[in-house]
Amino acid sequence: MSLSEIRERIARAEAEAGRAPGSVSLVAVSKVQPPERVGAVLDAGHRLFGENRVQEAAERWPGFQERYEGISLHLVGPLQTNKARQAMGMFDAIHSLDRPKLARTLARLAEETGHCPDLFVQVNTGEEPQKAGVLPADADAFVAECRALGLPVTGLMCIPPVDEEPSLHFALLARIAARNDLAGLSMGMSGDFERAIALGATHVRVGSAIFGARESGTG
Ligand SMILES: *Cc1c(COP(=O)(O)O)cnc(C)c1O
Repeated sequence: MSLSEIRERIARAEAEAGRAPGSVSLVAVSKVQPPERVGAVLDAGHRLFGENRVQEAAERWPGFQERYEGISLHLVGPLQTNKARQAMGMFDAIHSLDRPKLARTLARLAEETGHCPDLFVQVNTGEEPQKAGVLPADADAFVAECRALGLPVTGLMCIPPVDEEPSLHFALLARIAARNDLAGLSMGMSGDFERAIALGATHVRVGSAIFGARESGTG
């Protein structure tokens, strides 16, 4: 698989869903990938990348940012409150806003710095105990709480259970977003991004299908 093939598949899925060309953003999830693979994707002209750890992103991206213009970074993994300040300085979007304590921390830092990345509320659509995210039944109240804090919530994000049909989870996430007037939908990974686009994804997070298999898995 290559970047251009993934782009073609996204374009085809947009067309099949009757959606405007370019309405889906491709977040290339580069976590754990060797720098030469990331460099190849940068050389191919791609500029939007996802990382799931603040520390790893902080170690590898400043070097690329010196060599390539216009890089945009999205945090797709869990965020500890003690890393929130660093994350807000580094990422243009955070896809993992998943609890009130983090919302309050981000709001305080946004007030202090006058700046906040775009935020996606993570919803645990499969209600899995080990997985981050607010429960579907709590999502409306949490979105309202974030808005009351003045946070720029732009959408919702989910990671469906590995052993279930993801479309059911994508459809659920889309319904929750619609009733909360949220335009952004961060859903779909290497194995299911076309199904996510059919159900309204605005951001697909694709890692291994672009870069190849990860050598050590962190999710
Ligand atoms: C790793 C990761 C991805 C990408 O997964 P692939 O299956 O390699 O496409 C997407 N989203 C999140 C939150 C991830 O941690």
